[in-house]
Amino acid sequence: MHKQHRMKSRTVQSWSHCVAPGVCSGIEHGGVVYVETCSCGATRQIEANGGREAKSPWSEPSEDRYRGALEGIRFTVRTFRAKHYNFLDAAQRDFLAEIDICLEVLK
Ligand SMILES: [Zn+2]
Ligand SMILES: [Zn+2]
Repeated sequence: MHKQHRMKSRTVQSWSHCVAPGVCSGIEHGGVVYVETCSCGATRQIEANGGREAKSPWSEPSEDRYRGALEGIRFTVRTFRAKHYNFLDAAQRDFLAEIDICLEVLK
């Protein structure tokens, strides 16, 4: 989805296996592995040990995550509309209609 992914969140775990084969020299093994996630859902892993780092390429979010996110939006819109049906102003109606059109295209 992005041309260039950017780290939005990062978790750390202990190293268990090579996550950057072909990139690392082996010196990076044995320390920690950072898992970075982009706002679009793409992830990459970075093995780090003693100040050395080896980064895996970014991998795109899986189809499952895409489907999950889409269902989340659909559910949110449906719930919001049901809850506030009688109180929506014109701008809110337009906004929700716009999202409906996008969801139609993406399904
Ligand atoms: Zn991204
Ligand atoms: Zn490695």
